[in-house]
Amino acid sequence: MKRIAFSFVLLTFVYVSGAQTIINRDPEIKKMVDDISKDKIEQHVRKMVSFHTRHNLSEQNDPAKGIGAAWNWIKTEMEKSISVSGGRLEVKFEEYTVGGQGQRISQEIKLKNVVATLKGTDPNDDRIIIISAHLDSRAALDNDNTGFAPGANDDGSGVATILELVRIMSTKKFSATIIFMAVSGEEHGLYGAKYMATKTKQEKWNIIAMLNNDMIGNSGSSETLLNDNMRVRVFSEGVPAFETEQMASLRKYISGENDSKARQLARYIKETGEKYVDQLNVTLVFRNDRFGRGGDHSPFCQEGFTAVRICEYNENYDRTHKIPAVENGIQLGDLPEYVDYEYVRKNAGVNLATIANLALAPYEPVNCGIVTSGLTNKTTLKWESPAKGIKPAGYYILMRETYQPLWEKKIFVTGNEITLPYSKDNYFFGIQSVDAAGHESMAVFPGQAKRQSGTN
Ligand SMILES: [Zn+2]
Repeated sequence: MKRIAFSFVLLTFVYVSGAQTIINRDPEIKKMVDDISKDKIEQHVRKMVSFHTRHNLSEQNDPAKGIGAAWNWIKTEMEKSISVSGGRLEVKFEEYTVGGQGQRISQEIKLKNVVATLKGTDPNDDRIIIISAHLDSRAALDNDNTGFAPGANDDGSGVATILELVRIMSTKKFSATIIFMAVSGEEHGLYGAKYMATKTKQEKWNIIAMLNNDMIGNSGSSETLLNDNMRVRVFSEGVPAFETEQMASLRKYISGENDSKARQLARYIKETGEKYVDQLNVTLVFRNDRFGRGGDHSPFCQEGFTAVRICEYNENYDRTHKIPAVENGIQLGDLPEYVDYEYVRKNAGVNLATIANLALAPYEPVNCGIVTSGLTNKTTLKWESPAKGIKPAGYYILMRETYQPLWEKKIFVTGNEITLPYSKDNYFFGIQSVDAAGHESMAVFPGQAKRQSGTN
């Protein structure tokens, strides 16, 4: 009798937990992800370290040392892909002035970002996706512009990833434009990213996603001695840094505090990254960044763009911003031998898969609304097809319990309205456009649907 009861329990368990995950990969994206070379990433990191320091106040005119040498080398590396891009890749410096009295950089200097733009194939597609990393480095002191500051992980790992993605993605065609950006000025106050965020806002660029990669190559923690190259963090803001009164009032009405655009991007990165990269858990951190630390995504958030930070799960404080030296038997400093290149390869794959999927996807649906009038145990969602780009083959309706962090159901529909037998009060919903090959836009969290005359 006891044995029968046990079998029953076991069967019930299998039944409840038996739903498998179906993974449908686009073979082209899979091939690009598989092309990412851990050895090339390591070569790039070691080359960055060979400049001795990439401090923002370091030498700009020495061909082998200092930030100027790094600028020129990164630009030259990116330019190698122009010929294979069929003329779609453009590489240039963006120069700007920073510093002055009372600032962390006390005298005015000029810094440069290196920016590679891979133009989208559809001239009517104005969407831009940015992947960014910072090329400057520092050791212990703010103003030490000559000491060895290898910056292998911070942020050689991010820059190496960008160079690898330029190499691989420039041979492929995407509807949307992709910008690969290596910025200066991060270590002294996010100057390079601020310059780009202000400029792009003024020029009204349609940036749909900005992925900041800062420190994606360290897999072991100091103090707690964890070793794990199977987890990476994505930081995203909840309540947006840029929010008008009208946006705030809608957010409160629809309980959208966990459904900012940055959070939809974070969920998108998790779903897409884990689809294409094996042995990696994309862990969503529901805060904009680490305590007391800044990142280049923040200026973009402040200008109202959708931006997140991708960062290693474990940090090693014996390495970051330390002068390379042995102290009490511990090697300090951000040296290339401590970067886990296999881990960087996987994190580069998450970036590539996300950007490619997004750049191939249709535009998001527009005017997405949830009908909140009327007492009903159902939910009606309405949306309009995007006016630009390819026509979606259909839409995914996403849903989850309100207390769950990630979408739980994904329902394919055609048309522009659906009524589901679930109460609008008990779930959150999202709407994505999808093309015939399965590339999804980011999810849109519906606002209140406009009332139609004659209904309440
Ligand atoms: Zn950094």
